[in-house]
Amino acid sequence: MGDGRPYRIVILGGGTAGWMSAAALARFAPATHSITLIESEAIGTVGVGEATIPAIMLFNQALELDEAEFLRETMGSFKLGIEFAGWLKPGHSYMHAFGEVGRQLGLLPFRHYWARGRKLGLAKPLAHYSPNELAARTGRAGPGAPGVSLPYAYHFDAGLYAGYLRRYAEARGVTRHEGKIASVQRAESGDIAAVTTDDGRSFEGDFFIDCSGFRGLLIEQELGAGYEDWRHWLPCDRAVAVPCAASGDFTPYTRSTARSAGWQWRIPLQHRIGNGHVYCSEFISDDEATAVLLANLDGPPAADPRPLQFVTGRRRKFWDRNVLAVGLSSGFMEPLESTSIHLIQSTITRFLTVLPGGPVDDAVRDGFNRRAALEFERIRDFLILHYWANQRHGEPFWDHCRNMDLPDSLKARIEEFQAACVIQPSADELFTEVGWLQVMVGQGLEPASWNPIADGLSDADLGRFLDGVERAAIEAVRPMPQHIDYLASLVTAE
Ligand code: FAD
Repeated sequence: MGDGRPYRIVILGGGTAGWMSAAALARFAPATHSITLIESEAIGTVGVGEATIPAIMLFNQALELDEAEFLRETMGSFKLGIEFAGWLKPGHSYMHAFGEVGRQLGLLPFRHYWARGRKLGLAKPLAHYSPNELAARTGRAGPGAPGVSLPYAYHFDAGLYAGYLRRYAEARGVTRHEGKIASVQRAESGDIAAVTTDDGRSFEGDFFIDCSGFRGLLIEQELGAGYEDWRHWLPCDRAVAVPCAASGDFTPYTRSTARSAGWQWRIPLQHRIGNGHVYCSEFISDDEATAVLLANLDGPPAADPRPLQFVTGRRRKFWDRNVLAVGLSSGFMEPLESTSIHLIQSTITRFLTVLPGGPVDDAVRDGFNRRAALEFERIRDFLILHYWANQRHGEPFWDHCRNMDLPDSLKARIEEFQAACVIQPSADELFTEVGWLQVMVGQGLEPASWNPIADGLSDADLGRFLDGVERAAIEAVRPMPQHIDYLASLVTAE
C-alpha cells in the first residue's frame, strides 16, 4: 500500500470456508494485511460436510496443526478411500482407494499390464493390487510395513473443525465480529467499499472474501457474478442428513451406497456416524427420501433429519471486482468424492499465490478465474462418470443418468480409455490416473486394448509380476493396526 494503512481483508461468513480462509490468511498474509471476519450465529452454518481427501493433510501441515490434537478437537477418524456400493448395479461394490494401485514397470503404468492380464485370465480385480483398499477392507489404519506410508484423509466434524480454526485464527490476530450483514456499500469504482450489520456497524475493506454459503451475499446478491447450472449433468438437487450413534463397524473409509434416485453416505466419526441421502427431487419425494435414509442407518437417529437444497454448478466468476467467493458461495457439487472442503482449500491456496496488496490487475483476476473454472470442471466430469456409467437398468433415475449427453471433455476421456487404456489427467488436475482407473473399471468400462509395451513380458512373467505386486500389497498392510486401536492410541496419548 505504501501509505502505512493496512490492506484490509474482510471475510463474510464463519462456516468451514470462512474459518479455513481466516486461518490460512492469519498464517501466511504479511503483517501489512488485517483480517476481519463477520458471522451470524443466528443464521448459522450449513452444518454438514465430514469427508475429505488426502490434500487436507497439506493444509493442516501448512498451518502446523498437530495431528493428534486435530483429531481430538474434530472427533476425526481416518479415511483410506470411498466405497461405491451398488453404483454399477445392485450387489456390486468397488472402491476408489487413495494411493497407488499396482506398480509401474519401466515406463508403463500398471494398468496396461493389468488389462492384458485380465484378458488372459491372469489378473485379479484391481482391489488386490491396492494397499489402501486392502487396509480399508480389513479395518486397518496407521503405519504399514517399514518404508511404507499409505496416503490417507480424514473424516471429521466440519463444525468442530471451523471452531478449532477459529481459535487458531483469533490467536494469530484475526478479529471476529458477530452480526448479520444487512446492507452493502459500493465505492465509485463499483467495488465493494463496506458491509453494514443490522445494528448499524460498518466494516470497510479493500478486499472481501464471500464465505456466506449458498446465498452468495456479495458475489451473487450484490455483484451478480452469475451461475452456471449443471443440473443437466448432475441432477441431484436435495439432501437429507442425520447422525446416528457410533457402531462397531468403524470403517476407515466413506461408504456411498446407490439408492433408487440418488445415493446415501455413511461417515464414521469418533462420537457418531454421519449419514445423508443425496437425491433428485424429480424422481423421489422428500418424505420417501427421508424414509429411505432412516431405514438404512446403523442405529436409531441421534437428531432430527436435516433437509438441504442445492443447485449443482459453479459461479461464472469466482473472483469479481474485489470479491472472492470461497466455499458454497462459489458453487456446489454433491459430496460424492468429498471435494467441497478441498475446493475451499485450493481456492484459498490459489488466492495466496496472487495475494493482492493494492489494486488488482484484470489479467491476474482472469487467470485466477480460468484456473478455478478448470478445476471445477474436471471434478464435475469425474462425478458425472459415476452416474452415467451405470447398469441399473429399469430404474428411472439411473436410466435418465445413463442417457445423459456428456461434456466433450469427459466423452474424450472415456473413449481414450476404452480404446487403448489411456488416462492422461493434466498436471494440475485433482484426481489421479489411478483414481480415474478405479472409477472407470468400477463402473464397468473396459479397455479394448493396451500399450503394446505390455506385450513384452511372456505370459508366465506377466503372471509372476502380477502375483508379486499382490504379495507386496498384502505385506505392506500386514503390520497395520486396526483403525479403532490406532485412533485411540493417538487421541488418548498426551
Ligand atoms: P456455510 O456453512 O453455509 O457458512 C456460511 C456462513 O456465512 C455462516 O457463518 C453464516 O452465518 C454466514 N452468513 C451468511 N449470511 C450472512 C449474513 N447476512 N451476515 C452474516 N453472516 C452471514 N464437503 C466435503 O468436503 N465433504 C463432505 O462430505 C461434504 N458433504 C456435504 C453434504 C451436503 C448435503 C452438503 C450440502 C454439503 C456438503 N459438503 C461436503 C460441503 C461442505 O458442507 C461445505 O463446503 C462447507 O461446510 C463450507 O460451507 P461454507 O462455509 O461455504 O458455508
